[in-house]
Amino acid sequence: MLPIYRIELPTPYMVGPVNAYLIASPPYTLVDPGPETDQAKEMLRQALEEHGVPLEKVERVLLTHFHSDHSGLARWVHVNSGARVYAHPYDLAKLVPGYDFLGQRLPLIKGSGIPPSLLAEILQDKDPLPAPWVPEEAAAGLADGDEIHFAGGTLRVLHLPGHATGHLCFYDPGGRTLLAGDFLLPHITPNPLLEPDPGHPARRAPSLRQYLQSLERVESLEVERVLPGHGQEMSGCRQFVVLGREHHRARLQAVLEALEGNGRLTAFELTLKLFPNLKGFEVLLGLSEVMAHLDYLEESGKVGVLEDGGVAKYFLAAAGPEGS
Ligand SMILES: [Zn+2]
Ligand SMILES: [Zn+2]
Repeated sequence: MLPIYRIELPTPYMVGPVNAYLIASPPYTLVDPGPETDQAKEMLRQALEEHGVPLEKVERVLLTHFHSDHSGLARWVHVNSGARVYAHPYDLAKLVPGYDFLGQRLPLIKGSGIPPSLLAEILQDKDPLPAPWVPEEAAAGLADGDEIHFAGGTLRVLHLPGHATGHLCFYDPGGRTLLAGDFLLPHITPNPLLEPDPGHPARRAPSLRQYLQSLERVESLEVERVLPGHGQEMSGCRQFVVLGREHHRARLQAVLEALEGNGRLTAFELTLKLFPNLKGFEVLLGLSEVMAHLDYLEESGKVGVLEDGGVAKYFLAAAGPEGS
């Protein structure tokens, strides 16, 4: 069983603090070093010191995914310690200088019916954290099934897309422990986020289908404790898998109900029905959530979509033979 310590660090985001984890078995490894703020740097440096592994002694950084609250300090840790930074290649490709987060995503909501004024609001809503990036010479890729060795044990790499196309979890079979990043969280269900499909960049990744498939994979693992990217350690895993599945089932149902009796609706109109009070960047998150569910429903034949003047309009697919 690997010695793993949770280090909670503040973020400026609504989600609240994020968890970095120190694996205090050589080679000393940090999982998700946290957001790039002066406060997080200071707190991380101090916590590492307290656990007997000064920042300069960190040898590896593992990233669950590229989001700035998790990966922001990777470069700083590398610069101070020489540690290599490991992540899935899909997410390493987003951890480069000048990566255009919105530029990559806005084409995917073309046709959603979002009014230009709201689009402008999204563009003006500045991220409070700098865009994270990792120097090319420090970056190393990890693939599903890879093993990461320590003096005291091994972590197995699981590629579990859905929240991010390159999302990784790290499983310690010796301690029956899952370092889950944003794949499983104690109080909220991670948003299946809008991203280009790495295989077909002009298309949206089928994030909800991937997330539900990822849940299935994790369900078959022996996991006694989940160490999430936000919040406290979770004991057991299956009940969270079940909750995640139920959450999305209910939301799929809510989308179908919103379409019922309403003819044809755009993804934006559906977003307003489900989440009426969003502002700025949150609109993109709401739209992302709705579009992920619409894509899933369309793929499973429950909704149809028609192109109408450059806008995609969704409707309930023909009722069954009983007309129900
Ligand atoms: Zn995330
Ligand atoms: Zn997160």
